[in-house]
Amino acid sequence: MSTATLDFPALEAHYGTGVYPSRGITLVRGAGATVWDDQGRAYLDCTAAYGVAILGHCHPAVVAAIQAQAAQLINCAGIFANDQRAQWLAELAAVLPAGLERLFLCNSGTEAVEAALKFARLGAAGTPGRPGVVAARQGFHGRTLGALSATWNPHYREPFAPLLPGFRHVPYNNLAALDAALTEEVGAVLLEVVQGEGGVRPGEAAFLQGAQRLCRERGALFILDEVQTGFGRTGRLFAAQHHDLMPDLLCLAKGIAGGFPLGAVALGPRVAPIPVGAHGATFGGNPLACAAARATLRVLLAEDLPGQAAAKGAYLLERLRGLAHPRILAVRGVGLLVGVELRERVAPLLAALQARGVLALNAGPTVIRLLPPLIISRAEIDQAVDTLADVLAAGGGA
Ligand code: PLP
Repeated sequence: MSTATLDFPALEAHYGTGVYPSRGITLVRGAGATVWDDQGRAYLDCTAAYGVAILGHCHPAVVAAIQAQAAQLINCAGIFANDQRAQWLAELAAVLPAGLERLFLCNSGTEAVEAALKFARLGAAGTPGRPGVVAARQGFHGRTLGALSATWNPHYREPFAPLLPGFRHVPYNNLAALDAALTEEVGAVLLEVVQGEGGVRPGEAAFLQGAQRLCRERGALFILDEVQTGFGRTGRLFAAQHHDLMPDLLCLAKGIAGGFPLGAVALGPRVAPIPVGAHGATFGGNPLACAAARATLRVLLAEDLPGQAAAKGAYLLERLRGLAHPRILAVRGVGLLVGVELRERVAPLLAALQARGVLALNAGPTVIRLLPPLIISRAEIDQAVDTLADVLAAGGGA
């Protein structure tokens, strides 16, 4: 069947659930930091498909790894070892913050958070599990019912109440509030190192280090959600390394496999042993995902993409701050996780950017979030900033 006459957004609107607010274009191809629509129009992709395409779209090393592995073995149940999975586990463990040596593999960020919450329920070594969880206001941890209980935004939570009992949200970067919330019923504290979806809000070292210390003192587990910040995004391989954090559980996904779905939870020595059969995932750790992840990590390290993200992120922040436009309230970020907070709702500006060939995300109603591939060039950063300047100068959104 010829696709020339098909209206893809209309098909998706008809057969989909409508949960995604449509941007109205159909993306069919990607290379580096560029994606193309079905009309052949190019866009600079500062969304990286929700922060996933860290090496750029269709990086040749990832494509080759997937192609080779697809011809070898696609699925392998967790009851059998697999060459790709075993090597990936060892290679990932070698670069994780110290002490994180056991890994559970799943398929997404929300699954990683869900698994971490379940593992925390089993308790810290020597201490039985306690059901309470403290998370942060503006925090985002995913949308399955356990992860959603930790996610703060009432818009995401309220239609699905009642959620899990025992979850409390304290103001981010407020150690006194966290201290007060860490009662005897609390078994885990779950935080992002930089709040992404909640508005691009960097965590302060004193808060994050204090949270870790309080967890150790009170027998609770310290869970970091690095689904968005992991794998170089913030200028270090893991954002925890900015503050010398040693979480008990570390949640990873998004860029981990260069665009292929994969999630992981890393467990430290304070996490109680996980009984056989206590958790599992049919597709978790499939050889295709593990091969893609191995190729991604090799490129990430060989090209020092975390270092590149630090340098390019500093340049992006400097250029954005240089705009000093009255419609801009604040510019903040770490590495290539950058937010531009405006004095107005950003949806019309995102549409105007798209019309001028730049794709960006929001983080809440008033923040433009830039999450480009870590391989973005300085010329492409200039293109993104200059286009934003044009859009802001144009007055309205369009
Ligand atoms: N945790 C954080 C910090 C995230 O940013 C996200 C997604 O944006 C998730 C969890 C959920 O990940 P996924 O959409 O892969 O389920």
